[in-house]
Amino acid sequence: MKKTVLITGASRGIGKICSIIFAQKGYNIAINYNTSDSDANKLKDDIILNGGTAEIYQADVSSYQQVADLVKRVYHDFGRIDVLINNAGISMHKVFTDVTCKEWEKICGVNLSGAIYCCREVIPHMLRHGKGRIINISSIWGERGASCETHYSVTKAAIIGLTKALSKEYASAGINVNCIAPGCIDTDMLSEFDEDELNKLIERTPCGRLGTGFDIAKVALFLASHESDFVTGQIIGVNGGFE
Ligand code: NAP
Repeated sequence: MKKTVLITGASRGIGKICSIIFAQKGYNIAINYNTSDSDANKLKDDIILNGGTAEIYQADVSSYQQVADLVKRVYHDFGRIDVLINNAGISMHKVFTDVTCKEWEKICGVNLSGAIYCCREVIPHMLRHGKGRIINISSIWGERGASCETHYSVTKAAIIGLTKALSKEYASAGINVNCIAPGCIDTDMLSEFDEDELNKLIERTPCGRLGTGFDIAKVALFLASHESDFVTGQIIGVNGGFE
């Protein structure tokens, strides 16, 4: 029976590339998105054209009710959720004191509550199956902190805490929980940076380039596979050596 992966924020960027790579490996792909309806539809069509299986699910992960409904629909369609990739995220570049409470609630809702809600709803299904893999997408800023991205850094640091704590709670139930902390990855999320700023980020990356969605997806695939059976509670930096 084919395995199913639920990828949040899969309409664009890293989530989209994870969808393509996991589909090539034979997974059913549950593509969650929030606003990019046509991107999600096109991704689904492309996966199906290439012989894969995919379905799209609109849901704002910052809403507990929408996440509960999302997981119910995915389980109904595919009968199992083997892998959850908590990838949906938004960034914010602002001086710390300029961030309003509303903006904090929004970024916290998507980046942190979204991951917690998805784990909350998916774990009971994984427990019934006696196994599962959860892959949380944090950020190098969650490990190091970034000026003018304090709120984003806080949410991403919390994702690391979520990973470590959950991994301890569920390892004996056969659920491995790991985290990828990407460096600078060439997606829409970097579109706020001008060419000079991007070049500075590349200069700080010993590998000498921005990362790609494929760099992240390949590690996610490893964490979803039997090759990583004894890996849990780990934070894996995929950052080209960024300092
Ligand atoms: P991206 O290209 O901007 O894509 C973000 C994705 O998240 C989109 O598919 C978007 O869907 C989805 N999303 C946003 N809000 C959502 C919500 N409320 N509910 C459901 N989905 C939502 O960003 P990315 O670079 O691929 O980032 C993916 C993850 O990697 C994020 O968690 C990010 O923090 C992390 N990361 C990225 C970098 C980087 O340099 N790019 C570095 C470190 C970590 P819609 O368009 O449909 O709304």
